[in-house]
Amino acid sequence: MADNKLYEALGVSRGASDSEIRREGGDSGFGFGPEDLFGNFFGGGGGPFGGLFGGFGGGGMRGQRRGPRKGENTIHRLKVTLEDLYNGKISKLQLSRNTVCTACGGKGGPAGALQPCRTCNGRGIKITVTQLGPGMVQQMQSRCPDCYGEGEVINERDRCQSCLGRKVTQQTKILEVHVDKGMRDEQRITFHGEGDQMPGVEPGDVIIVLQEKPHETFQRNGSDLLMKYTVSLTEALCGFSMVVKHLDGRNLCIKHPPGSVLEPGCVRGVLGEGMPMYKNPYEKGDLYIRFEIAFPENYFTTEGKLKELEKLLGGRPAPVPIPAEAEEVNMTEFEGQGPGGPRGHAYDEDDDHPHMGQHVQCAHQ
Ligand SMILES: [Zn+2]
Ligand SMILES: [Zn+2]
Repeated sequence: MADNKLYEALGVSRGASDSEIRREGGDSGFGFGPEDLFGNFFGGGGGPFGGLFGGFGGGGMRGQRRGPRKGENTIHRLKVTLEDLYNGKISKLQLSRNTVCTACGGKGGPAGALQPCRTCNGRGIKITVTQLGPGMVQQMQSRCPDCYGEGEVINERDRCQSCLGRKVTQQTKILEVHVDKGMRDEQRITFHGEGDQMPGVEPGDVIIVLQEKPHETFQRNGSDLLMKYTVSLTEALCGFSMVVKHLDGRNLCIKHPPGSVLEPGCVRGVLGEGMPMYKNPYEKGDLYIRFEIAFPENYFTTEGKLKELEKLLGGRPAPVPIPAEAEEVNMTEFEGQGPGGPRGHAYDEDDDHPHMGQHVQCAHQ
């Protein structure tokens, strides 16, 4: 939502990229994009009414008047694991697409069987005019439902047996998708000309868009990997070894020496253990580990042991002087209650007492 506001503030329409995707997405099953349709409408030259609107200036301006029309691209989303993106993978994708009918050569029936559609007068477009108010009309263009935008129909008895007059038949095809090492979420792999075929139309592309699935251990940030790891307070102070199972199955053993202190939330890096770079897989990013420290339970040891621990940890700072009029108050636990939680107001009150910390120390002595 905040993003939308930002876009608005910048005067950028977010819809621009969305509509681009939609056009390519082809959920309409229309076979060709709106531009092509427009070109066909005004310039075409092929159909019985082609050229009628040629003078309107819309048709030829994209230079598509004579060249082959290009079909719509087909987009497939392919879910991949982080392991796939680390190691590379070949995915076989079966997709069904329209191919030009071989029985009738994409004509739909014998020569002369094609008739201009009467519903749309061969234009392939239905125009709906809605009266919005006095002197105001809205014109909507949509694909003609009777000829599916073709502008031509074939009598039922003349239809090709193989494609039933549709000029195309559905066939399945297996595409080998090479997911290369280091590829990213949303990266596109294009198969040129593998989209739906239509007679007289250059087929569009099949575009595979990778979708990275979330991983249970690692989070990816570009070519780096991030992970969280929890150690006990003892380990954070006295050292430990940990094993990280990497995306290629290797076990990385990481040793942290005793005496090198880890604070809660600190981050340590392992160079060269991130994701491989795309097209340069021997080069790798880094692995970052964020440490959480599990503190001991309440009253985990005796008072005597605590005194020993206090000495081991280097004693305590000099006590703060407590003014005579200081008021002793109780501090309670606040499990999971932030400001704005049900007891949030109590939290705010704490902020109004800058001397509270002194009371804490007071309670301990
Ligand atoms: Zn046919
Ligand atoms: Zn029609």
